[in-house]
Amino acid sequence: MSARDVIANLRELAALTSTADGAQRLAWGPVWREARQWFNGKLATLDLRPEIDAAGNSWATLPGASGRTVIIGSHLDSVPNGGWLDGALGMMAGFEALRMFKDRRPPVTIKVVDWADEEGARFGRSLLGSSAASGSLTIGEVEHLVDKTGTRLVDALRENGVELPRMHEAQTFLQAIEAKAYLELHIEQGPVLEAMNQPTGVVLGTFGVERHLLRFTGQAAHSGSTPIPMRRDAFLAAAESALAFRQIGIAHTTPDARVVCTVGTVKVEPGIVTAVPGVCEISLDQRALDAQVLAKMLDAAREAAANAARHNNVSVEWKRLWQIEPRPFDPGLIELCTQAVREVTGDAPQLPSGPLHDAAEMVPHMPVVMMFAYSSNGLSHCKEEDTPEPHLEKTITAFLKLVEKTVAGI
Ligand SMILES: [Zn+2]
Repeated sequence: MSARDVIANLRELAALTSTADGAQRLAWGPVWREARQWFNGKLATLDLRPEIDAAGNSWATLPGASGRTVIIGSHLDSVPNGGWLDGALGMMAGFEALRMFKDRRPPVTIKVVDWADEEGARFGRSLLGSSAASGSLTIGEVEHLVDKTGTRLVDALRENGVELPRMHEAQTFLQAIEAKAYLELHIEQGPVLEAMNQPTGVVLGTFGVERHLLRFTGQAAHSGSTPIPMRRDAFLAAAESALAFRQIGIAHTTPDARVVCTVGTVKVEPGIVTAVPGVCEISLDQRALDAQVLAKMLDAAREAAANAARHNNVSVEWKRLWQIEPRPFDPGLIELCTQAVREVTGDAPQLPSGPLHDAAEMVPHMPVVMMFAYSSNGLSHCKEEDTPEPHLEKTITAFLKLVEKTVAGI
C-alpha cells in the first residue's frame, strides 16, 4: 500500500478539476461529471465498473470470499472554490484500499461509494445522496429546490440520470448490502488536531445540534430621558444571555466531552443610537456528542435566558430553527481506528466532528467510524485547505491499516 500513490492521485484530480481559485466539482455539473469519469478510469485499471443507485451514488465493488461488506465512503463533489482534500481524500484512499486487495481476494467484500451531492453547495441540501440511501430524505422537502441560476434540482438530477421522485429507492440498494462496517477518511476542517500537533485523529461521532432563535421584547424608549432602572432593554437581556451561554458551554466541557455554544447573529430594534433597544433577536447554536448533555445545555440556556429577561424586565420567546440528534460512532470500530492511528503516529487523539458527514447517515444502519487528517490553520471549503504532506502520508497509511484491520475483523 502506498500513501504516496494516494497523494499523486489527489494532485492529478486537483489539476483536472480546479482553477486558480480552487476545486470546482459542484455536484451535478460538468466538472463533477468529469471527476467521476476520471475516477471510473482509475477503477477500470482494477477491472472494476461502478454501479449507480437511484440517488446517483456511485458504488465500486471488490467481491470477497464472503458477502459481508466493508463500505468505504466519501464524495467527489466540492463547494465552488473548494479545497483539494475535502471529499477527494476519502475517495482516493478508498481507491487505494481496493487496489491493495485486488491481487489477494479479501475475506469480505469491499465497496467504495462516492456519495452524490454531499456538499449541498448548489441546491442547499447537504448529504443528499447518502440521506436518500439511508431513508432520512423526504422528497417533498427538496423537490422545490432551485440553484442560483434558476435550474431546478429535479432537472439537474435528470441531466445526470437521476429521477427525483425515485431517489429514495437507493434505500433498497443499501439494504441489499450485508454491511458490517462503514469507514470514512476526511480532512478535519477545524483547528483541533493542529492545536495538538497531531497528524491524525479518531472521530467519536458527529455532534447533535440544537439551533434556536431567541426574541427578547422590552420597550423602545428615548435614551436621554429614560433612567436606567426604568428601562426595558431587550439588547441587555440578549447580551446577558449570550455571556451565560458561553459559560454553559465551558461548564459542560470535559476532556471527554467537547461541546460548543454559539451566538452567531444579533438583530437590534429600532437600531438607533439614541434609543433603548425595544427588541433584540439572537441565535443560539448548541452542539454536543452526548444527547443528554445537549438536553441539559438547552435547559440551562432556557433558564439563563429567562433570568436575563427577568433582570431586564423584558420577555423572551424561543423558536427552534433546526435540530439533529448526535450520531455517536461504533465503539468496536473506534477501538480499531485508535489502534491503527497509534501504530502509525504514536498517539491517537479522539475528537467529535462538528460538521456533518455522510458517515452520520450510515450510523442507524451499520457500525461506523471516521478518521480525520490535520487541517492546516483549520481551514476548509477554500483553496487554502491543506494537510502538510508528511501528516497526510501518515494519515493515509493509518486509514489503510484501519481498512486491513476491519476487513480481518468483521
Ligand atoms: Zn467533505
